[in-house]
Amino acid sequence: MSKPIVAIVGRPNVGKSTLFNQIGKKRVSIVDDMPGVTRDRIYLDAEWLNHEFTMIDTGGIEFDESNHILKSMRSQAEIAMEEADVILFLVDGRAGLTTSDEEVAKILRNTKKPVILGVNKIDSPQLEMNIYEFYNLGLGDPIPLSATNVMNLGDLLDAIVAAFPEEVPEEKDEDEISIAVIGRPNVGKSSLVNQLLGEERVIVSDVAGTTRDAIDTHFVKDDMKFMLIDTAGMRRRGKIDEPVERYSVMRSLRAIDRADVVLMVINAFEGITEQDKKIAGYAHESGKGVVIVVNKWDIYPEKDDKSTLRFTEDLREEIGFLQYAPVLYASALTGQRVGRVTELVKYVAEQQSMRIKTSVLNELIRDAVSINPPPMHRGRRLKILFMTQADIKPPKFIIFVNDPELMHFSYLRFIENRLREMYGFEGTPLRLIVRARD
Ligand code: GDP
Ligand code: GDP
Repeated sequence: MSKPIVAIVGRPNVGKSTLFNQIGKKRVSIVDDMPGVTRDRIYLDAEWLNHEFTMIDTGGIEFDESNHILKSMRSQAEIAMEEADVILFLVDGRAGLTTSDEEVAKILRNTKKPVILGVNKIDSPQLEMNIYEFYNLGLGDPIPLSATNVMNLGDLLDAIVAAFPEEVPEEKDEDEISIAVIGRPNVGKSSLVNQLLGEERVIVSDVAGTTRDAIDTHFVKDDMKFMLIDTAGMRRRGKIDEPVERYSVMRSLRAIDRADVVLMVINAFEGITEQDKKIAGYAHESGKGVVIVVNKWDIYPEKDDKSTLRFTEDLREEIGFLQYAPVLYASALTGQRVGRVTELVKYVAEQQSMRIKTSVLNELIRDAVSINPPPMHRGRRLKILFMTQADIKPPKFIIFVNDPELMHFSYLRFIENRLREMYGFEGTPLRLIVRARD
């Protein structure tokens, strides 16, 4: 199921990231079991009145032309119009209406998507009259708010949620593994997909329910059903009519939402970029399997028998949180190791669905504690009572302890490492939840 996407558009300094972090705070305090993934977030999973959605700060998306404010705002607006379900246009109620606000509004008025107009920095009721001039933007009633004082955020979220498109439940074939192919323009995604499908029998292509523009491709290989989620344009011929194709963050996130396994394609020369990392971080937090494909390996210079090893080490250092992702060195041009892709995807999907018996887990805990007793904290020691697996895809473990406050992140990491040493769980993130049990 693909969650609705809300894109925040607005000039620099209107308070986009402040608002973003305020909305994020609520959630982080509740679900805080995956610390330290990415610091400067551009996306955020949020929930309001039982509606889950993903929020994106388009101000955090890098564009090649980003030094030019108006130009980059136009890009933000365009990308939001293409890909978001709801657009939140944020303006600054203290600075007042500016020409660039008007320019952006002009673009946004053409969209069929719902646009919510938020007037930020209305920190007190006295300032509320500042909102009136924003009626001129022709985008409906402006909603006053203060991101720093957390005022009116509820009204804002109500308006956002009310504008969501009606949910179309997606029918998912449980025996089929869905794959999202993600990566910067030109790393070789289309070539890889064409290679993959070239050898396979393509069954049907259909238009997916919620993502109007995506074409999914179903195919069978080695008696296994796969579905490729197209991140629009990937399979289109002559797709590059824009000088620089954008790394479509929203499209990528949407595809990740619907995927079991994410194929993160990078090229051998550039390695992993910041944008890649953010997207990989989303896959990680969404509990998806990840396989990294280092493409264009055919033209990587001066290879020797240690090249892949060195490359993998560097890569792992770059993305600390993705230690578990298998790395495949391929060439979409020559077809080298492309055949391994589906094998690895299938393997990772199996790892995601693995279940470990409670009795076995408790043995693991006993061993772990005897090798490395939990450290003391303020004169008290953590006691792990038992651990049980609560879910798969991703595997989720609940660790019952005397007092969750005593569980240190490094100790959780140690348990996670033990789990991986014993059972692999290759390619999949793990969730470890600590609960009190008295
Ligand atoms: P962005 O560039 O749109 O992401 O804006 P930021 O979130 O970085 O905010 C820019 C500045 O505006 C910072 O100094 C914020 O502290 C300030 N700011 C953000 N929200 C509010 C608000 O509601 N009221 C006031 N007075 N200042 C705000
Ligand atoms: P996409 O934008 O990620 O879908 O990338 P494309 O599949 O369109 O590939 C971009 C360019 O890289 C094209 O000219 C491809 O022929 C070339 N290319 C793709 N994969 C490889 C590869 O493995 N080796 C080499 N040498 N070139 C490749």
